[in-house]
Amino acid sequence: MSKPLALLAYQDADIEKQQIDAAVRTTSNRQKLNKLAKYIKQQQATLNKLNDDMEVFYASVSKIKTQYEAVLKRLDLESSEFETLKGDEECTSEEMTEFRHDIEKLNREAGNLEKEIKQLFQNLEGAVTEYQKTRQQGAKAKKEYDQLKLVCQKERDDAAVDMLALDKKMEELEKKVSPALMSRYKRVRLHHNIPIVEVREGKCSGCNMALPSLAIRRLVGEDMILECENCGRLLYADNN
Ligand SMILES: [Zn+2]
Repeated sequence: MSKPLALLAYQDADIEKQQIDAAVRTTSNRQKLNKLAKYIKQQQATLNKLNDDMEVFYASVSKIKTQYEAVLKRLDLESSEFETLKGDEECTSEEMTEFRHDIEKLNREAGNLEKEIKQLFQNLEGAVTEYQKTRQQGAKAKKEYDQLKLVCQKERDDAAVDMLALDKKMEELEKKVSPALMSRYKRVRLHHNIPIVEVREGKCSGCNMALPSLAIRRLVGEDMILECENCGRLLYADNN
């Protein structure tokens, strides 16, 4: 007999375990959970950005407010000086005109600053609204995430039960395989999910490379397990 039945049964259980593990990582719930996690992360990034924006707005408003107050103070001074000069008979009309121009210019400056402040507050309001909306959406997503996480945990637990049963089966099968062959299997398993394959039509069915006929004769004749020179998988001949 050159077909290593116990090792092949062991490999079947091993493959089934890999499939269960892969399936539980890609269930629709798990995919939805991953998507939600990504979404929550994006929401958090948006919140951070809005926070930064709002800080910039506050700083700008405070700076412009200081400028605005300075302009109002100057306006106040110039206006009262103007009132005083109006009663002064020595004041020329040129001086009066100059004063009037100064006051008009200051009024324009104050008006522009008021507009700027109004615009900034509008921007700030927009950012606050977006912040609140984003936070609500984030909280909703987080709630959904927490619920879904429990579902995924249950899926994992169920899979773990099946995988544990396969572990036990593999443990029993391992006793029927020679330790030397088992250690070869485990070594190849590091690189290949299916470490032992059949020789089919003179080829390794793992990588499809044609095997030297001498190697096949040895495989068939001496009941040996060879390794494919190309891919390193273990080879067996199914000649019953
Ligand atoms: Zn091969």
